[in-house]
Amino acid sequence: MQEIMHYKVIRSRRKSIALTLSAQGEIVVRAPEFLSGEEIGAFVSRHEAWISRQARALRRVPPVRLETGDALVLFGRRYLVADAPSRRACIKEDLLYLPAEGRAAACKRLISRLALAELTRTTRDLAAKFGFAAVPVRISSARRRWGSCSSRGRIAYSFLCAFLPQPLIEYIVIHELSHTKHLDHGAAFWQTVERCLPDWKTRRAQLKAYAPVMSAFPAV
Ligand SMILES: [Zn+2]
Repeated sequence: MQEIMHYKVIRSRRKSIALTLSAQGEIVVRAPEFLSGEEIGAFVSRHEAWISRQARALRRVPPVRLETGDALVLFGRRYLVADAPSRRACIKEDLLYLPAEGRAAACKRLISRLALAELTRTTRDLAAKFGFAAVPVRISSARRRWGSCSSRGRIAYSFLCAFLPQPLIEYIVIHELSHTKHLDHGAAFWQTVERCLPDWKTRRAQLKAYAPVMSAFPAV
């Protein structure tokens, strides 16, 4: 017998249909106004495998906890949360000092500083290695995408990249660097990605499983 899936539909003037799974495991379908309920139902059933894969991944990614003694892995290094004596967050060896007040916001600022250093370096190194022009990099608060590239070739990475393993960070960097040459996701774009990372498809699939990380960090 087939299990009935419960989902929420948000209709708008959008042209395409999209499926997301919230951090709480709720299935949300964003659909154009003209699509019938049956069509939406059929779309959801077609994506049943994707939904259960995402739900499994969601269960594997616990929320980021920032209490004293909690462990946090940032750019592959493990830190233990400790109480900061002042209002400023800092890292000393493997301890991550966070203030009692505004803890999540202070932690996010610290992660963003770390991310700027790490991602500037990785972007510079990979650009030099694969012949891309050097580009300015900034860190964003985005929680729906890992990276973006503006039409002027400016790259922004989400601070949440700090929670990803290095091979997936490399995929994001190459993806955004390739956008400095091709803004769309056309064939020429993917050829550029493939020239740098022949195994990009595997990395992209792995990155999808990390989507729950986007909602694992406390709201600030
Ligand atoms: Zn892209």
